[in-house]
Amino acid sequence: MTKYKIVYTAGAIAVCLGLSACTSWPWAEKSDSGSAQQTRTSQSEKKTVNDHRSPSSEKTVSAIQQNSIHVVADPESNLVLVNKYFKLPDDYVPKDLVDLDVPFIFSGKSEKKKMRAAAAQPLKALFAAAHNDGIELAGVSAYRSHKTQVALFRYYEQRDGASKARTYSAYPGTSEHETGLAIDVSGIKGKDAATQAFNHTPEAAWLAQHAQDFGFIVRYPKGKEEITGYEYEAWHLRYVGVSAAKKITASNETLEEYLREVPVSK
Ligand SMILES: [Zn+2]
Repeated sequence: MTKYKIVYTAGAIAVCLGLSACTSWPWAEKSDSGSAQQTRTSQSEKKTVNDHRSPSSEKTVSAIQQNSIHVVADPESNLVLVNKYFKLPDDYVPKDLVDLDVPFIFSGKSEKKKMRAAAAQPLKALFAAAHNDGIELAGVSAYRSHKTQVALFRYYEQRDGASKARTYSAYPGTSEHETGLAIDVSGIKGKDAATQAFNHTPEAAWLAQHAQDFGFIVRYPKGKEEITGYEYEAWHLRYVGVSAAKKITASNETLEEYLREVPVSK
């Protein structure tokens, strides 16, 4: 396993530098009518990742070594793993997206104000509990359609080239925002939203302590960059359900570690 650990760590470092999991539109929102063909994905490699604690680390390592991305077989699972090596099917659209009943830092209707039904009520309860503790939260960005992510990535690809674009923008299908189970949150005024400065706010501290009670985890925690492939993002919450969220938080694990989808190196 030593060899695998080194390979994984090196690969993760290479792709995580300067990378944000939440890169959003650099311009006003618009749609893209293009197709969502992938060139990098090994579409034939299907894999189920919803079996908690399934011993499949070697498959993960294999995917990394081949520079390929597995397509998840369980996109609707609350525990679906989506990262640089596991992507959603290109045609996946969550069937149960609902409008969130929480404040956002921008007005008007948007897909960014939607999440899957399972996460919507818990998120509202989380916001209410924060309010009771004197913490006023707002949504920044929740669901992002595959079509949006394709258009976003293509924009960066054309501007900066494919390899550079991949260092800061999630490849289509690999953004957790496409699951409908992730949301970026900020303080009610939107100050420092989705930036490293947010990591030092009272809102971030509150989320780190209480998100688990509502079934959410801080998906990209501090000190786990080599495993998640992303820098610390106190604002990016992922719904996994209360039971999993409490276990993951109590053990200071990432979703990858909880699902045993990486060779744990530390
Ligand atoms: Zn995010």
